[in-house]
Amino acid sequence: MHISISNNCIGCGACSTISPEVFEIYKDTAIADAEKVYGNEESCIDAAINCPVNAINIEEY
Ligand code: SF4
Repeated sequence: MHISISNNCIGCGACSTISPEVFEIYKDTAIADAEKVYGNEESCIDAAINCPVNAINIEEY
């Protein structure tokens, strides 16, 4: 699973609340730690679903 965050991100912090292992807010934008995604897939999906501007894109491979 690969996570990318689009420029639509408004830095609301929802993703880092839902999945603090993977997401953090840096300078009003979310960043995802690619190395932490493995094992946290469910919370990543949950974060993506709950992002108010649909800025979290998940690719499966
Ligand atoms: S939930 Fe969406 S808009 Fe909010 S900080 Fe995360 S990526 Fe950005």
